[in-house]
Parts: sequence; structure tokens; C-alpha cells
Amino acid sequence: FQRDSYDVIIIGAGPAGATAAALLAQAGKSVVVIERSYFPRFSIGESLLPQCMTYLAEAGLLDDVVAQAEKFGFQYKNGAAFYRNGEHSLFDFQNKSSAGPSTTYQVKREHFDQLLAAGASAYGAEVHHGFTVTAVDFDDPNEVQVAIEKDNQQQSLKGRFLLDASGFGRVLPRLLELEYPSDFPVRQAAFCHVKTTLPGGQFDRNKILITVHPTEPELWFWLIPFADGTASLGVVGGTEYFDDDDTPGQALWRRVHEEPHLLTVLGEYEVTRPEQMITGYSANVSRLHGDRFALLGNAGEFLDPVFSSGVTIALKSSSLAVPLVLQQLNGADVDWEQAYTVPLRKGISTFRSFVKGWYDTRFQDVIFYHQQQNEIKAMICSILAGYAWDSENPYVCETERRLRVLVELCQTES
Ligand code: FAD
Repeated sequence: FQRDSYDVIIIGAGPAGATAAALLAQAGKSVVVIERSYFPRFSIGESLLPQCMTYLAEAGLLDDVVAQAEKFGFQYKNGAAFYRNGEHSLFDFQNKSSAGPSTTYQVKREHFDQLLAAGASAYGAEVHHGFTVTAVDFDDPNEVQVAIEKDNQQQSLKGRFLLDASGFGRVLPRLLELEYPSDFPVRQAAFCHVKTTLPGGQFDRNKILITVHPTEPELWFWLIPFADGTASLGVVGGTEYFDDDDTPGQALWRRVHEEPHLLTVLGEYEVTRPEQMITGYSANVSRLHGDRFALLGNAGEFLDPVFSSGVTIALKSSSLAVPLVLQQLNGADVDWEQAYTVPLRKGISTFRSFVKGWYDTRFQDVIFYHQQQNEIKAMICSILAGYAWDSENPYVCETERRLRVLVELCQTES
């Protein structure tokens, strides 16, 4: 460590932590990122949304991602494809209503996260791996003290502000008892990587493929191709759809074998990254900020994987929080609720309505409704591309009401 006191301490070097560190370092602040794992390390969350590109550019990290895309097998992505019982539906992000990038990547997170962390270091942030944050102390009104541990050795660091970007580590929610029940029931995901050319079923590898299970519409599969001839494959559903003693492999492949179209698309495959399972990942907190701290990305709220919104929300949170941290460090009195929680949660609640509608299947009917007016489809497409904070989109401003009207229309006309 180059000093024992920093302007900002960040817990976690995932996308939220690395982009926040890059922004703060470029603003001339002393920043230290404490990351418990050594990179490259696997993470789930591989399909990005075009809106991410805006935040990566803002943090000065997009050029590196684009330059290294080929080397790391990042797959160009221009939309989302949906399949349900013989019906196909395509959303090409170029047809979205919002301004902004319309393409992105599907990334192997070990390389993507390493690139972002290296970018933050290049801007002057200190990124330290192998250290776990174990305790925080806000007793001194002018600083926060953070206890860190490596190989059973304890030490402590001081900072003027603390950003928790620990993702599923949920450091401050646990230490400060901020955990709050998520709106969503406990669901689980089983996934792996396969090597396959994806030869079957007229599949466009520039799109994520979301497939609804043929008889259990609350159960769905993701297929996320990478550019190196591998793909990520996963199944997601409530725990009631899996047996308690299922191994991750059994949970995944039994369900995949019930979906003939997905098997056709997969063609001959070989598992290249072993099956793994995550249960109960949806999370929320009672508040996203407090005196001298704020929560970023998944350390705050996580909804559901279905619309690939996680990394986008993580990057949006850094983009909103960093200017406020800078103001606070300059002595301003910042209204974090109005300037951070309210705008961040606007977009999250748009995604939340879409996720709820997906699992109660009303939004699935919207997705597979083929007489949709182009203008409406463009607005839905914008949100699927991550533009959930575009206040000019009526489906952002009044998501629930608009969705209700749309569902009624789709259901009466189909
Ligand atoms: P993370 O990426 O989780 O990073 C947190 C970092 O903090 C980690 O590196 C961790 O090692 C470190 N850390 C944790 N605890 C400590 C500690 N005590 N001390 C020090 N360091 C610590 N999102 C998408 O955008 N697209 C998808 O396709 C997608 N699919 C998903 C599928 C599933 C099944 C799930 C569960 C999630 C998916 N997500 C997806 C969500 C995505 O994984 C997360 O939203 C995203 O990684 C959040 O980024 P983050 O920076 O907030 O946290």
C-alpha cells in the first residue's frame, strides 16, 4: 500500500468497483481497491447490454475492451433472440428508440474484469488482490477505517469515503445490517461453458438466445455465445423446479434435454467449464448510502439474470455515485437519496417490472406478440438494450401501467 490513508476505499474490483476506481483516479483522488480474489477469476454475468458501452466510455475503459475483444473471445452482440414452443422473436438493438450504442459484447468475465481493473490501475488507482475486507468502523466522524485480512494477517486502512462494490460478497449489507428482502422468490441457476459451433436451428450467434421451457414457462435457458467457439449455457427457475439432491450437472442437463430446439441449436458439444449452481441470488438493501459510504452494483440490489441487466446496473451505479463522492470530498452537503437512490432505482424498477412480467408470463406474451407496432417494439427494445433510465421512453416513465395496457392488447388480439 502506498499510503495508509486514501480519499476513497473501494471493496471489490468487479465492474462496479473498477469503473468507480477509474473515474475517481482520473479526477485526481487517491483510490485503493481491495479485492479478495486474484484475477483472472471466473464470474457469472457474461452478456452485456449496449448501454454498458456508454459507461465504459465515460470511465475511459471502452477502448481497452474493444482493442482486446478479439484476443479474449468477446462476442459481438447486437440483440436478443427469444424462443418458446416453436415461436421465435428477435430484438435487433439497432431498432431501439433511445439514442446511444446499439451493440455490445458477450464476455468471459475473467478477462473483462481483469481488463477493467488493469485500466483503473493505469489511471492511478491502487488495486490490491488477495485481501478480504472483514470489518469497518465509522466511529471517527472524519474517516472510515477498514480492516483487511490476507493469509491470516490483519491490517487496517483509512479513507474519507467507502464504496462497497463487493457484489454477492455483500460486505456492508452484512456488516451494517442493511439486508432487506428481495421482491423475488428464491430461484436458482445451473450453468456451464460448452465448446460447440452452434450449428443448428437458424441461430444468429450475435444475439443472446433466451429459450422458454416447453411446459414450465417460469423455467428458461440462456445461451450466450463467445467468439472463441465456446458458449455459456444456463437454466434458471424457482428451486421447486430442481431436486434438492441434484448435482449442478443433473440440474442443467435434465432440463436442457427437455427442450428439443435448444438441443438442435447446440449440436455436438463438449463441456469446457464444469457445471455450477447458484441459488438465492436476488438481494436488496434497506438503503444504498449512509454517512461516508455508498453501495454500488450487486452489493446494493440484484434482480434476476433474465434480461442481462446486472453489469449495466453496476456500471450505472458507479456513474451516478462518483460525481457525488467528488462533491462530498470537496465539502458539499450531498443529498444521496435524491441524487443517487432515486435515479438509480428508477431504472432498476423498470427492469423489475419486466422481470416480474417475465415470470408471471405476461411479458413473455408481449415478447412473442408478432403484430406489435414498430414504435412500441422500439421502446421495449430500448429497455432490453439497457436504456432503462431514458426518461423519454414511456415504458421507463410508467412501466407498470404501460405494460398492463400492452399485455391486454396482446392477449385480446392473439
Ligand atoms: P461483482 O462482479 O460480483 O464483483 C464483486 C467483487 O468483490 C468480486 O471480485 C469479489 O471477489 C469481491 N469481494 C467480495 N467480497 C469481498 C470482500 N469481503 N473483500 C474484498 N473483495 C470482496 N449480469 C449481466 O449483465 N449479464 C448477464 O448475462 C448476467 N447473468 C447472470 C446470471 C446469473 C445466474 C447471475 C446470478 C447473475 C448474472 N448477472 C448478469 C449479474 C452479474 O453477475 C452481476 O450483476 C455483476 O457481476 C455485478 O457486478 P459488481 O461489480 O456489482 O459485483
